Amino acid sequence: MNERCPACGIVFEREPGYWTGAMVVSYLLSVALYLALSLLLWWVTGHVELGLLIAVVPFLAAVPVIFRYSRVIWMHLDHTLDPER
Ligand SMILES: [Zn+2]
Repeated sequence: MNERCPACGIVFEREPGYWTGAMVVSYLLSVALYLALSLLLWWVTGHVELGLLIAVVPFLAAVPVIFRYSRVIWMHLDHTLDPER
């Protein structure tokens, strides 16, 4: 990952431990997605356990996307609440 944005120069990791907030965002996104997938597959298959099991496959495919977007969402939230001077 770049240290700064090549377009606008914003520093991505503002301080040590900066991405801890992104981990919280990632957790929330992951729980919401896995729950939605499980409920959908429960509805489709008619079995709770089967829905929970099959939901792992599309969830794991979405993990790289969740990882990236959790950082993006965290940076937007952080820069909105505490803008650089
Ligand atoms: Zn930029």
